[in-house]
Amino acid sequence: MLDLGTPIQFVKGIGPRLAETLSAKGISVIEDLLYYLPFRYEDRINPRTIAELCPGEMASVIAEVRTSALLRTRRMPIMEMTAGQGRATLKCMWFRGTYLKDRFQPGQMVALYGKVEQDSRGRGGLQMLQPQFEILDEAEAEVEAEAENAGRAAHSKWHSLEVGRIVPIYEGTGKLTTRWFRRIIHSALESLDPSLPDAVPAAIRGRLGLVPRFEAFWRAHWPDAGESFAALETARTPAHVRLIFEELFFLELGLELKRRRLRGLPGISFRIDARVRQALKDILPFHPTASQKRVLKEIADDMRQPSPMRRLLQGDVGSGKTIVAFEAAIIAMENGYQVSMMAPTEILATQHYLSARRILEKAGYRIVLLTGSQEQDRKRETRRHIAQGNAQLVIGTHALLEEKVEFHKLGLVIVDEQHRFGVLQRMKLMKKGAESNPNKPTAGFHPNAQRVGGPGLSGTPSAPDVLVMTATPIPRTLALTLYGDLDLSVIDELPPGRTPIVTRRVPGERAAEVWTFLRKLVAAGQQAYVVYPVIEEQTGEAGLEGELKAAIRMYEELRKKIFPELRIGLLHGRLDTEEKESVMRRFQAGEIDVLVSTTVIEVGVDVANATLMVIEHAERFGLSQLHQLRGRIGRGSAKSYCVLMTGRKVSEEAEQRLDTMVRTTDGFEIAEKDLELRGPGEFFGTKQAGMPSLRVANLIRDRKLLEVAKQEAAALVNGTGEGISKEEATQAIRHLQAHWNRRYGLVEAG
Ligand code: ADP
Ligand code: MG
Repeated sequence: MLDLGTPIQFVKGIGPRLAETLSAKGISVIEDLLYYLPFRYEDRINPRTIAELCPGEMASVIAEVRTSALLRTRRMPIMEMTAGQGRATLKCMWFRGTYLKDRFQPGQMVALYGKVEQDSRGRGGLQMLQPQFEILDEAEAEVEAEAENAGRAAHSKWHSLEVGRIVPIYEGTGKLTTRWFRRIIHSALESLDPSLPDAVPAAIRGRLGLVPRFEAFWRAHWPDAGESFAALETARTPAHVRLIFEELFFLELGLELKRRRLRGLPGISFRIDARVRQALKDILPFHPTASQKRVLKEIADDMRQPSPMRRLLQGDVGSGKTIVAFEAAIIAMENGYQVSMMAPTEILATQHYLSARRILEKAGYRIVLLTGSQEQDRKRETRRHIAQGNAQLVIGTHALLEEKVEFHKLGLVIVDEQHRFGVLQRMKLMKKGAESNPNKPTAGFHPNAQRVGGPGLSGTPSAPDVLVMTATPIPRTLALTLYGDLDLSVIDELPPGRTPIVTRRVPGERAAEVWTFLRKLVAAGQQAYVVYPVIEEQTGEAGLEGELKAAIRMYEELRKKIFPELRIGLLHGRLDTEEKESVMRRFQAGEIDVLVSTTVIEVGVDVANATLMVIEHAERFGLSQLHQLRGRIGRGSAKSYCVLMTGRKVSEEAEQRLDTMVRTTDGFEIAEKDLELRGPGEFFGTKQAGMPSLRVANLIRDRKLLEVAKQEAAALVNGTGEGISKEEATQAIRHLQAHWNRRYGLVEAG
């Protein structure tokens, strides 16, 4: 008998070589193998007939090979095979199909899976392009060979794995075909000890009606004949639910324990007295919205606590996160601590620097900017100010991580637009925070520093508070899972007095009309952005895309030919910090009418007088990118316009993106659509966002289960889980500790 921890070499049919191949795929013990679930299933009990297929659907069919031939067309070799059932036939084609030469023999039975299409050349017949296939007779031949050794019993058993039932389809790799996985996993299941330990507490299993693990493994791989296909396709069979819940439950349990541990760490407890409150009020340039007040209170409450704050501030583009961050900074500075604020681009860092100076400097706070492309001398000087505690608010890019920056007394770390940073960068920043608090006595450059003091005197190193901000609107539970150890605050309203942005699509040929419109707005005293997908034309092979307009060339054209009477500025990533700073400053001051740019302005840039955003080649941009870009306008009370200009070729998916942009300005809706179009992996940039490595669960598809898993996990940790005994709780935690790193390594890293 095997158990879940048995190395896979002990499964019949797996030798040392295969074991090695599998372990490269992350499969080294039986449990890993059993979690390698089929990615779809084929109904080979009641297979479809060719006659009933409809163009456009995905379908699986079992039919007989009639003819096959390798056609050498001018462009590429195409393998063509015709399969038939009685008089009905289905044409199958594989492009560059030389590898399939001699693969099919007339009379063989094949299972085919693919998208059904109308045969464009034929007489209205049906076809499948590049279908997945399995030659069923081949399975029999293999079985015959095995039967020689293993006796006749094996014959009927293997054969029955291929037909006459719901058959699992696995993602194969190289020599390890779907058929191979089918047999190996079947054989592993057969020799598995049915009494599997179950670390999910019985009360929870009962509440959710979870089936036993052993049964779940069997049924997820080998569904009963009566299983619903809809449930299989959406991973909602009892077997799937059981496995998915278990995975999510232990993930949440791990995160919950981590959060708890964090709360036990020594942090800084900032004091917020009447004087600090006054300082907070003094700088406010406007009345905060109710949302802003609420999140500021949540942040302030955290900062008061003796444990380090780890908070995520979420709010759509333009909802006013910056001022909340500045307020948090004031609390830290008034307590005699330094603050570091990190932005993903130099332009955003520069802009924060400029607005921090505008808003905070008159109150006497000392602010510095540190970015990678600054002159060495200036950087050295800045670092010295930071190390001596002269600089109180340090704004920068990830240069803050890379340059040898040492803080004198760091109390708060703010990360803006955090989704643009990698997990590793965020970790590095937090770690840096923790290290860079040598708790030297307060230097007291700021008049208030000494009076308030801090726990720095206690002698234990204390971790700084961390506030990360993002405009990516994702559901709460998902955010709490992705950002593991963070608490969440949400700004869910825009500042008052904003007029909705009007968004229009315009084909590139009608640019002249757009320029006339731009001229009119500028004549009325307003400003505009014109955005291009690239800085310069690519040369060489990319010449195919030669029609792609580039920022530098269009800047010249707009300046000299189209708007000789206007003041045009150019901004892109390759300018050095001083140039960027100067362009930003002039645009902000209204000395530039039209800012020609690349997506470097995508995040954060804030100029309320700019009311027109023209995006050329809008079809080339992602949905969230377009949303961010559009977020640059509509920041004042004047009506704003977003013009999406398109090139000649617009893909179907791009059409959907553009339609979405025209239809809505709701960041949440746009994020959902983006998620739908790109899939969770790309949406979050899997590695970037620190997406946990899950085997059976999918955080988007399974978000309802995630919710329940989180509640149950939290209750277990707090000892409030109904019906859960102490022993069971301990057992669950022990199980987690034994599996955490193996299963959820990435989360641990985040
Ligand atoms: P984001 O959340 O995208 O970072 P910002 O902090 O850049 O948004 O704020 C967007 C604009 O709204 C800025 O011009 C800011 O000054 C303004 N703003 C923020 N909060 C308010 C408010 N409560 N009342 C009026 N204007 C506000
Ligand atoms: Mg911002």
